Amino acid sequence: MVHFVGAGSGAPDLITVRGMRLLQEADVVIYAGSLVNPALLKYCKEGTEIHDSAQMHLEEVLSVMERAEGEGKTTVRLHTGDPSIYGAIREQMDALRARGIAFDICPGVSSMSAAAAALQVEYTLPDVAQTVIISRAAGRTPVPEKEDLPKLAAIGATLVLFLSAGQTEAVQAALLQGAYTEATPCAIVYKASWPEEKILRGTVGTLPAMAERNGIKQTALIVVGDVLGNDYALSKLYDKHFTTGYRQGE
Ligand code: SAH
Repeated sequence: MVHFVGAGSGAPDLITVRGMRLLQEADVVIYAGSLVNPALLKYCKEGTEIHDSAQMHLEEVLSVMERAEGEGKTTVRLHTGDPSIYGAIREQMDALRARGIAFDICPGVSSMSAAAAALQVEYTLPDVAQTVIISRAAGRTPVPEKEDLPKLAAIGATLVLFLSAGQTEAVQAALLQGAYTEATPCAIVYKASWPEEKILRGTVGTLPAMAERNGIKQTALIVVGDVLGNDYALSKLYDKHFTTGYRQGE
């Protein structure tokens, strides 16, 4: 059996209880060493066979899983954050299905959640934004044309950009072609929940300078939108005049 496990954003106590238990029981662990905090490996039992997938290609990862399965062992494939976001798990799942190897997925705390916590923001504020767009700048992995950043930026929603901290000039240009202005609040969160976490606040106008001054090129999220500002409406849910299924409004 193979368990895909979300490691969480970095802090070892941000893995789920289930994920920790699966790590404790695993015979083989393949972890994404480029992003997963190695401190999480302390949950593994003694003698666990550990592989860092940063140095492996897909076929090598699959052959470790296949061999472990043949030996009746349990494998944990440990991915950073939540595996469903830029986790490259689909190709692994399809290959496991084709080989008749059973697997399941344990979700994790995405870096986008850890970044919101670090920033102490709510991504969805009444009257400001009720939509969060998760995307990235095109890099060596292209982005489908229909999702070009200026098109997404035209919506003016809360925007969380992964894998884009090394391209802040291009990101800024794309944002300014959309609904954002130089004055729209913008933040960079580097290594959210790691000991070396950095929180940088500014505006779309200062985005490239923020990244450059702090030498940030990777392992960071760019968060854009007026939810980082001061104006919003109070929620209906907790309005004392609002009737819900649980409470009669005054
Ligand atoms: N599945 C992961 C994302 C993997 S893609 C998740 O849910 O978080 C890798 C990108 O995620 C990095 O380039 C960076 O943009 C972001 N990232 C991962 N961990 C991060 C962290 N602790 N703080 C800020 N950004 C992080």
